[in-house]
Amino acid sequence: MGLLTIGAFAKASRLSPKALRLYDELGLLPPARVDPVTGYRLYAPEQLEQARLVAWLRRLGMPLARIREVTGLDGPAAAREVRAYWAQVERDVAARRGMAAFLIDHLSRKDSAMPHMPHTDSRPLGIRYAALSDAGLVRETNQDAAYAGSRLLAVADGFGGSGAPASAAAIDTLKQLETGSFPAANLLNALEDGIAQADRAVHDIAESDPGGDEVGTTLTAMLWTGSQLALVHIGDSRAYLLRDGEFFQITHDHTLVQSMVDEGRISAAEAASHPQRSLLMRALVGRPDAMPDLRLQDVQAGDRYLLCSDGLTAVVPDEQVRQAVSGDAGPEETVRELIGLARRLGGPDNVSCVVADVLEVKALP
Ligand code: MN
Repeated sequence: MGLLTIGAFAKASRLSPKALRLYDELGLLPPARVDPVTGYRLYAPEQLEQARLVAWLRRLGMPLARIREVTGLDGPAAAREVRAYWAQVERDVAARRGMAAFLIDHLSRKDSAMPHMPHTDSRPLGIRYAALSDAGLVRETNQDAAYAGSRLLAVADGFGGSGAPASAAAIDTLKQLETGSFPAANLLNALEDGIAQADRAVHDIAESDPGGDEVGTTLTAMLWTGSQLALVHIGDSRAYLLRDGEFFQITHDHTLVQSMVDEGRISAAEAASHPQRSLLMRALVGRPDAMPDLRLQDVQAGDRYLLCSDGLTAVVPDEQVRQAVSGDAGPEETVRELIGLARRLGGPDNVSCVVADVLEVKALP
């Protein structure tokens, strides 16, 4: 009794009749009754609450398929789902914010008549660097790869049967950025092309892999332009910056546990000991939809960068990593010390480190 016409229900729920018809077709909000003669849809007043929830979720921008899931859940489960959705939106926005900053920087210097003055004192900067990769004490093979050259710093952590060639291929492909002479203003396109080619290289390796498990690699790389570092990152390898005595992570892990931390479902400490802590949400797996984070990092003389695989950060406590990186030792000695720390703690995983110092050129040895 008391069924509402689609017009009355639309008004009460703030959804249009057109939207209501669509939601019926999608099974999202079927009417209480359809008149067998006229075909008119009739809605029960009790359906208003669900209709208003659909309207709110639409305003939030949630896709219809996901709304259908939420409306089938009880209150607390629906709340968790909305929280998870929103955390994902914020991650996407953060990635797009980095991309927007990159583009703004790129476009504003493109037609600039003045040569770019990257840092206030305008004295030329250079980098001093070292890379080291080690199989550890448990794994039979090393599926990590690490590289440091005059323009490229990179670590990659391969997985699957052909994980070692996958990580090596990803870095090898990026090395062409080191020898190629692209204008600094073309950095974004060069990096994107580099990633696409690295992904195709991983694809070819995965295709010819005899095993059934997924083949891929993480990739965390920085390209030195002479005044800035462009950062490319996908997976759970990491980049850190030591600046003015502060040591902080400048990449975001693309892991299941990190997304659970972002959603407030577990603490950072729980994430560190979570049984699925190595489960990746994103990596280079040979599909063209790889979504690396791209960022342009302004540098200062005195900065020290650390790139490392999870064989370091999942094994060595943060404080010990910070101390090793904060010492007076140069890059060579520091990467050896970091890998030594991982080995002293059992070296359960392959471990790779790159350390690079930004210096005024006259201070370079
Ligand atoms: Mn690893």
